[in-house]
Amino acid sequence: MSTPSSVKGWCPGARRPMQSGDGLIVRIRPYGGSLPVASLSVLAGAASRFGNGQIDLTRRANLQIRGVTELALEPLWDALASLGLLDDSAEAEAIRNVAVNPLTGIDPTEIIDVRPMAQALASQLAANADLQALPGKFAFVIDGGGLLPLAELAADVRLEARREGADIFVAVGVATTHGVAWLAAAAASEAAEIAVQIARAILARGGATRAHALSLQAVEAIKAELGLPKILPNVESSDDARPRRGLLALGDKRYVVGLGAAFGRIEGGTLASFAEELARLGVTDIRLSPWRTVYAKVGNRADGETLIAAGRALGLVVDDADPQVRIDACSGAGCCNATVLPTHDHGRLLAELAARAGFTGTVHVSGCPKGCARSAAADLVLIGTGDSYRVVRNGTVRDEPAGAFAASEIGTKGIELLTNQAAVHA
Ligand code: SF4
Repeated sequence: MSTPSSVKGWCPGARRPMQSGDGLIVRIRPYGGSLPVASLSVLAGAASRFGNGQIDLTRRANLQIRGVTELALEPLWDALASLGLLDDSAEAEAIRNVAVNPLTGIDPTEIIDVRPMAQALASQLAANADLQALPGKFAFVIDGGGLLPLAELAADVRLEARREGADIFVAVGVATTHGVAWLAAAAASEAAEIAVQIARAILARGGATRAHALSLQAVEAIKAELGLPKILPNVESSDDARPRRGLLALGDKRYVVGLGAAFGRIEGGTLASFAEELARLGVTDIRLSPWRTVYAKVGNRADGETLIAAGRALGLVVDDADPQVRIDACSGAGCCNATVLPTHDHGRLLAELAARAGFTGTVHVSGCPKGCARSAAADLVLIGTGDSYRVVRNGTVRDEPAGAFAASEIGTKGIELLTNQAAVHA
């Protein structure tokens, strides 16, 4: 039996959970970003039985069961194994870090159904044990395009479907400090193999190396060494601000519903009720996404509206206009020993105040300067220090605060912070 690690800084897995303030975090990587609804019910029960009942939707489209004790780990592994969600080793699960377009195989506007590519890559990663020496956070993205592209999701190696006139191909790229360097245009059937070749070439250049740590010369050398099929211009993926929650029409009278979890957190009981509703509507599986939102394909518009009403009643985020979409809050007190501040409660309060004030900007509530919940800049950043928050405007937790206020005053200070750019309380 593998033993859990309490080493921080690792990407947690199921085989190698991470110790947190509320116990072990067990991260589950669904294959191809898809989970049968029946498995969802089992996971909801397992979270309550073996953990503290809290589940996270992560920004790499995974699930985390929180608050697991070491004694409960083995029975939880058994439950995961019964669902086909347990890798043979911590190393095998770590390298299977593959995010897939959430609507693949559902969306008629996607360029390529990437499910076979995702399966091929997972098989190649499992079969090539040498790749397990790659760093724990080494990541792949496979994006077939369509309604919900993954252009914003960072990855060491990207496979993106492209259409140029009548030609359809997969652009294969690596992350660099200057954006994505596109190395090849490949047939869909070859793309997974090329991704593995690139990962191995990166590994050969210095052990535990991430792609963005390579020099541009090293990237060029990899391209030449692998004799990649065709050089592409450095075309950046399109940025997007598309609807992601609520009822999404796919055309041909096909609909999918996006339902989010505020701050990525959902209670096991809520998830169980949600799974029941999905089953009642004949939904067979859900797709996970990096937006802390899951997607369910429904039979028709009426079923979609029923599911949205059920999601709303369960406290899920069913509308992109919900301020909680634009507020990130880390786990906070009770889940993390680095803070005494209830960041989720404060995030919810700020969401209510933002709705009242008509504030449409972004907010980051961080229990401490580490800033786990968000790396991008936000319009308003609150950084916990003891029982106070320091305030940063238009920046990140790394920027110089303009002032501070006692966290107990957040109810009264909140509106002022959201409506008055100059409001900082020293
Ligand atoms: S930002 Fe700080 S308080 Fe929040 S989860 Fe990370 S380490 Fe804990």
